[in-house]
Amino acid sequence: MANTWTGGCLCGGVRYRLLQMLFGLVDCHCLDCRRASGAPYVTWGVVQRENFELLSGTLRAVPHAGRIRSFAACCGTQILFEDAPQWPRLDVTIATLDDPTPFPPGRAIWIEDKLPWVLLDPSIPTGAPATPAAEPKPKNEASTPETN
Ligand SMILES: [Zn+2]
Ligand SMILES: [Zn+2]
Repeated sequence: MANTWTGGCLCGGVRYRLLQMLFGLVDCHCLDCRRASGAPYVTWGVVQRENFELLSGTLRAVPHAGRIRSFAACCGTQILFEDAPQWPRLDVTIATLDDPTPFPPGRAIWIEDKLPWVLLDPSIPTGAPATPAAEPKPKNEASTPETN
C-alpha cells in the first residue's frame, strides 16, 4: 500500500489525507499568504487534486485575487490554495500535516514582500522557478523533495 500523509485543522474538525508525497515545496512570503494565515510566511507543498482526500469536516473556499483559498469551516485554519477553481493541483499548508518534518522548503518565493526581520535560508534559491515544479516520477516519490 502506498504511503499516505494525514493532517488537519486546529480543532480537529477537518481531517485530510494525502495519497501522494508533496512536491514543489516553497516558503511564500506574499502579502496574501501572510494575511490569510496570520503568520510571516506560509510553507506550501503541491499535490494532484485527486490525491487530496477530505476525511472529515468542511472546507470553506474563499476567492481572492483570482485564487481560491480554503479554510477549515470549523476553526479557520488555512488548508488549501488553488490557482483557479478546479485547478488540477492543490497547494497544501504543510504545517497542517501531522508530521511536516519530511517536507523542508526547496525555494522561497515572493521575497519582494518579505518582512525585513524574516531571515532566509541562504542554502535555498529564491524567486519563481523558470519552470513550474514538475511532479516527481513515481520511482522518486519516496526520495527527499526537490531542492532546486
Ligand atoms: Zn477546525
Ligand atoms: Zn503567497
